[in-house]
Amino acid sequence: MKIAVAVKQVPDSWAEKKMSGGLLDRAGVDAVLNDLDEYAVEEALRLVEKHSPTGEAGEGSGHTVTIISMGPDRATEAIRKALSMGADNAILISDPALAGSDALATSLVLSKIIEREKFDLVLCGTESTDARMSVVPAMLAERLNIAQLTFAGSLEVDPATSKISVARTTDAGIENMESTLPAVVSVIEKINEPRYPSFKGIMASKKKPIAIPTLSELGIDSQAVGIGSAWSTVNNAQERAARAAGIKVVDDGNGGKVFADFLAEKRLI
Ligand SMILES: Cc1cc2nc3c(=O)[nH]c(=O)nc-3n(C[C@H](O)[C@H](O)[C@H](O)COP(=O)(O)OP(=O)(O)OC[C@H]3O[C@@H](n4cnc5c(N)ncnc54)[C@H](O)[C@@H]3O)c2cc1C
Repeated sequence: MKIAVAVKQVPDSWAEKKMSGGLLDRAGVDAVLNDLDEYAVEEALRLVEKHSPTGEAGEGSGHTVTIISMGPDRATEAIRKALSMGADNAILISDPALAGSDALATSLVLSKIIEREKFDLVLCGTESTDARMSVVPAMLAERLNIAQLTFAGSLEVDPATSKISVARTTDAGIENMESTLPAVVSVIEKINEPRYPSFKGIMASKKKPIAIPTLSELGIDSQAVGIGSAWSTVNNAQERAARAAGIKVVDDGNGGKVFADFLAEKRLI
């Protein structure tokens, strides 16, 4: 099986974020591998380990795990983390023309790579922790005209028959879904516990190849991506007002009433 895992580099969830010119200012904050994409990397590695004659991912397994990402040059840091977990190689699409791309452009770029490399299975997280649109996996499947199995809480693949099945976990319940490869699957965080990269994995990741194709190599017109082609525009953004100091109530016997009055005033009871 040729497995691709789509990963995004995002600003650290704990970093204070600012908007600049209608875009999130990414340069000034620490960037990390999108948390939810770690589950997709882990699931890809588990699939390979399960179906590998050696029980291990990597050379000799008969399967490959390729990390694919669209982002700035520094996205290689997030990619290296995924490689240090055990993925084999990576492809980064990075071009100044991509700055400000929306989800439609992101899915266009990733779909071209997937089409070119003929991956059997594409694994994604359910959403990025910065833009949180949760649309890229569905857009990829639609562009590639292949099956989409989203919100997978468990995943089984039989490489011999190309059969794939997931337990799709949503607020409404669990749906058991089946299809055949090729397919796009997005995984939820309950699917597994991502491994920590080992020291050996970190050292090995430094030598793993990261290909950086140009937009023209992928047959993408630079006018079709970037902020100029985005279907949505941020017209205005304001910083959230500083949090006001709370009210301190000393309970001298009527604390319960003060608390109840407060909740009633806020229409919470
Ligand atoms: C006007 C405008 C400008 C924007 N400018 C930028 C910008 O400059 N930079 C930017 O990052 N975003 C930008 N965005 C946000 C952009 O729309 C989304 O970040 C991005 O296109 C994907 O949507 P998402 O992050 O919500 O992904 P989701 O749909 O929430 O992601 C789901 C999964 O898809 C995969 N995925 C998503 N994005 C990528 C990626 N880039 N590479 C590989 N896999 C991915 C991951 O597996 C992820 O877990 C902009 C949005 C607008 C409206």
